[in-house]
Amino acid sequence: KPQTFLALNWKMNKTPSESIKWAEELLGQLDDLNIKLAIMAPSVSLAGLSGVLGDSQVGLGAQDISQHASGAYTGEVSAAMLKDLGVKYAVVGHSERREYHFESDAVVAAKAVQAIKNGIVPIVCVGEKLPEREKGEHVSYTLAQLRGSLAGVELQSADDLVVAYEPVWAIGTGKTATAQDAEELCAAIRGVLKELYPQFADQIVVQYGGSVKPDNISEICSQPNVNGALVGGASLLVNGVTGLVDGL
Ligand code: 13P
Repeated sequence: KPQTFLALNWKMNKTPSESIKWAEELLGQLDDLNIKLAIMAPSVSLAGLSGVLGDSQVGLGAQDISQHASGAYTGEVSAAMLKDLGVKYAVVGHSERREYHFESDAVVAAKAVQAIKNGIVPIVCVGEKLPEREKGEHVSYTLAQLRGSLAGVELQSADDLVVAYEPVWAIGTGKTATAQDAEELCAAIRGVLKELYPQFADQIVVQYGGSVKPDNISEICSQPNVNGALVGGASLLVNGVTGLVDGL
């Protein structure tokens, strides 16, 4: 199994100064980690966090990345800009971006390509909404989304890519998927990764996300094909994060 990777998705929370204080506090409370841990912060907080986290055991990630390299794209942030700040990861295709910003699979794939070109690891998010699950189409829906979101995405190593399975009905709802649900989809995702990247698939991190908490993280992450978690709400408080780390 690849090393467990816990990614904290703050979403649109914390000001830049709050984020610096928070990160200093977290670093003060963490013992030596045997997992990978990273904060996915709002873009305006990345520069400040980069200074605090430096080469510590907590990595830095963005919540989005432009599909374009540079140019007339007002408001966008490029992969090269993020790289320059020491950003190592970028969430791409989060369901909130797909839903509120109309990102298609093709846009998500273009973002992943930009990230990899610049040495940033994209965390490509996929997952069904409630109607697909109720119709029993959650596997086929999610795998089609995955194929579309990885179209043209080429890897040099297993470390170039992370995939996160986030069923939309479990995000921020307190309704966690069961460990069996998470394993079903993460195993199916790895099946597609085996087709696309046969030499790397076993070592690519596949995360689960959706109402992960200190008391359920261990069961979920101990499933054979689940290699970590992408956590929203429970990642906002320092003791939430230490709880997640201790729970693993
Ligand atoms: P919650 O952990 O708040 O359900 O959010 C999950 C998520 O969307 C992480 O990207």
